[in-house]
Order: sequence, then structure tokens, then C-alpha cells
Amino acid sequence: MGACGTKQTIDENSDITPASRHRRSRKTMQFKLNRKSENELETVKTILLKELNQRRTIEGRVPLAKFPETGCTHCGEAGEGPLLESAVIYLRTCQTCVLKRFPFQKLRLPAGETITWFRSDPTLHRSSEYGMLLTDQAFYLYSPFWLTFSKWRRIPLSEIQSVAFHDSRFFPTLRVHLNRGTAVLRTPLDYADEMKFDRRNLIEAAERLRESLAKMGQE
Ligand SMILES: [Zn+2]
Repeated sequence: MGACGTKQTIDENSDITPASRHRRSRKTMQFKLNRKSENELETVKTILLKELNQRRTIEGRVPLAKFPETGCTHCGEAGEGPLLESAVIYLRTCQTCVLKRFPFQKLRLPAGETITWFRSDPTLHRSSEYGMLLTDQAFYLYSPFWLTFSKWRRIPLSEIQSVAFHDSRFFPTLRVHLNRGTAVLRTPLDYADEMKFDRRNLIEAAERLRESLAKMGQE
């Protein structure tokens, strides 16, 4: 005990105590980690820029010298209307580009409606995709499970009474209560990580929808 106490006193007064060495190495590690993620991010941006420029070249546009830090990260243009955030912080999309992507390219958005939020399943390994899109006037849901002619369903915001996220281990759902009935979007059964991502999307959809309804004085 005594020896241990003495050692601790010496260490505390010393310049290179195990504690400070530990702190220093932790700092170095954090620095290295930051550098690593910064480098990874730069690598990702380089790849995305290459893809973006391929699209621009096909469309007859001039390639960009660097990854856009403010414009649409899909087409590189400033875009009309607000740029929409994605689930990934450095990616933002203009309305035109959102409507070019699966499953949104199948959505017929009435003229004059502005998209305020959208999410879909970004993985391509699934056979059952889903999509959600919110505009200033309506909420759109896409589900492959719906056996109707159109897989997209338009719900005017004025018809929505409330919205809720229902968690379940296998079938988490978003339930939109309408004046007549309930629209239910169920995300696919998948690996736990994918389902975690989908749950976040459903929760965010409920939050965004509630905000829109609150603005309209509905919920
Ligand atoms: Zn764009």
C-alpha cells in the first residue's frame, strides 16, 4: 500500500505521469481518429465528385473542380427552391434531383408543391423499398406492399388528424390517422442495422409531419 502511495505522489509531481501520458496518448488517438475520418470524408467526396461530374458531362454541363459545399450534391447546381437535407450530413439535394431518384421518380408531384423533407431506403439489396415525402401541401407514402395501381399514396395535410410511430421488433410502422381511416407504412423486415435506420426515418417522418400540422394549426 505504502509503496503504491509513494509511487502515486512521485507520478503526480512528475512531468510524465502515467495519467498525463495516458491523456496525451488519448489526445493523439483522437487526433488520429479525426484525421482518419477527415481523410475518409475527403475520399468519399472525391468519389462523389467523380460521379457528379459523370452526370454533368452526360447532361452537357461543365464538370466541377471540387465537391459542392453549398449547392445540390447530386447535380452541382444551386437548384430552385430549398435544398433538402439527406440522412447524411454532407449530402443535400435539389427538388429536381429528388424526383429523379427511385422511388420518387414514379411520384407525380402537382405543379407548385414544394418538397420540405424526404426519406427512402438507400440500400439496393432489398426487394421491398419504401419512400416518404413531405411537401407544403401533402404527405406522400410509397409502399411496395400496397396492392393498388399506384404505389404512391397522396395524403393532403388538411385530411390528417394525427400521426404516430409504433415500434415493434419486426414491424415498426408509421400510422397516419385521417378523417377516414388510417394510412400505415410498414418498413421491411431486415438486418437489425437496416431496421434501426428505418426506425429513425419513421420517427423523423412523424416529427416533421407534426411540425407541418402544428404550423397549419391542425394537431
Ligand atoms: Zn440537383
